[in-house]
Amino acid sequence: MATLTVDPLVSRRTADFVTQAHRIFIDGRFVESASGKTFPVYNPATGDVITHVPEAEAEDVNRAVLAARRAFDEGPWPRILPSERGRLLWRLADLVEKHLDEFAEIESVDNGKPYSVARVADVPLTVDMFRYMAGWATKISGTTLPLSAGYDFHSYTMREPIGVVGQIIPWNFPLLMAAWKIAPALACGCTLVLKLAEQTPLSGLRLAQLIAEAGFPPGVANVLTGFGEGAGAPLAAHDLVDKIAFTGSTEVGRLIVHAAAGNLKKVSLELGGKSPAIVFPDAKLDEAIAGTASAIFFNQGQCCCAGSRLYAHEKIFDQVVEGVSRAAAEIKMAPGLDPSCQMGPLVSDEQYRKVVGYIESGIAEGAHVAAGGPISGVERGYFVRPTVLTNTNSNMKVVQEEIFGPVVCAVPFGDEDVERIVKRANDTVFGLAASVWTQNISLAHKVARGLRAGTVWVNCHNVFDASLPFGGYKQSGWGREMGAEVLHNYTEVKAVTVAL
Ligand code: ADP
Repeated sequence: MATLTVDPLVSRRTADFVTQAHRIFIDGRFVESASGKTFPVYNPATGDVITHVPEAEAEDVNRAVLAARRAFDEGPWPRILPSERGRLLWRLADLVEKHLDEFAEIESVDNGKPYSVARVADVPLTVDMFRYMAGWATKISGTTLPLSAGYDFHSYTMREPIGVVGQIIPWNFPLLMAAWKIAPALACGCTLVLKLAEQTPLSGLRLAQLIAEAGFPPGVANVLTGFGEGAGAPLAAHDLVDKIAFTGSTEVGRLIVHAAAGNLKKVSLELGGKSPAIVFPDAKLDEAIAGTASAIFFNQGQCCCAGSRLYAHEKIFDQVVEGVSRAAAEIKMAPGLDPSCQMGPLVSDEQYRKVVGYIESGIAEGAHVAAGGPISGVERGYFVRPTVLTNTNSNMKVVQEEIFGPVVCAVPFGDEDVERIVKRANDTVFGLAASVWTQNISLAHKVARGLRAGTVWVNCHNVFDASLPFGGYKQSGWGREMGAEVLHNYTEVKAVTVAL
């Protein structure tokens, strides 16, 4: 394994971590998988194998769930002072922050994203999430309730940890998705088993080391590497898991719901999207063009809330398409650690083929390519050029389905009333996010109200904060991540009534 080359630009320290013999994290210890099997991890900028990680399967999942079960049923975690839970989460935040550069490097070689982006987005947002949820640990409370039945009762609610939580995450923001899952579950007093995405297991394994270093009790947080069917499915189906929290494709979300049916465990889902960005003619065009370009091209378009349908009023449509196309053409594609990199490769060969297939299908169905196209011109790595398609219509696959790559479909709209453009924007099975670009304050609010989406941004897109609930209407999911809302994902409500 020592002969593996991680990336010529990566630091010695990160290369050493990447190429070390990896273990899964169960009951506070790093252990081999039961079978001893491993699978390869690739650098998406080169396609090279950079390391191997354990392939956890049902037996490992069972071991991890039993550890989490013991930690919940008999261990200190749900019983210790909430302030102690907050203190440990804060300590974990400090440790992640201390290793910011290292995490950014790991994300870049594992996922392909620009190091510079991971440094200012993925890792700081992760730190914020742990700190924000550290604050919630001491503020999870119920209410007192006046009963219609009369004054002879005293009633109140309590919020209690839901129990053992299974968590399954995707590869687009590997570390941040782990934080979105781990931080609230631990703040609420749950114990957990987290299954990392098979494409991007490395930052989660590094995080597990810091969880151990921070001093969380054994079994509170268990971290597994493995595949969806081999490790994710047994976790979702496990009878001793009280709740499953999933982020990923809508297709797998459905499988999770079926798997959860056995013991009727609680389920929260953060799934796909096909988010509209709607530009009205009075928008500040420079900002709208830069903003809608970044809405789709940020993270190589691999965001569930990517602004992949661009609706622009016909008066400004050509200008917007031209501007976004110019922005696309100017984006410098390079390996994530190259200082000039503005856009890295997609995460995997599979994703590369899928996205190129969508561009080709759009062209075959009559779309025009205003920028980009199916040929990247880069010899190695899974690079796809940022692509702008016009002449699309709502029957096309590229307009209806989630592409999860840097491909936007631009569509003009006329002087139709607000309801009609909102209806078009809502015309998909998804409802994750949307952005509205206008200077007209009442129009912005009207459109925001009409959109069936969990997040609406006005004159911005892809603004995330630990305090903002995030999740989807319709087939974009169940429940919300972050904000105070996420506490509902990880707590049960108990109503206590005392006859006076
Ligand atoms: P993508 O298509 O973007 O890779 P997926 O929804 O397939 O997204 O994967 C998201 C996460 O779900 C990954 O951790 C993956 O291993 C896991 N997964 C895939 N299939 C299953 C399954 N049948 N049961 C549980 N987890 C799964």
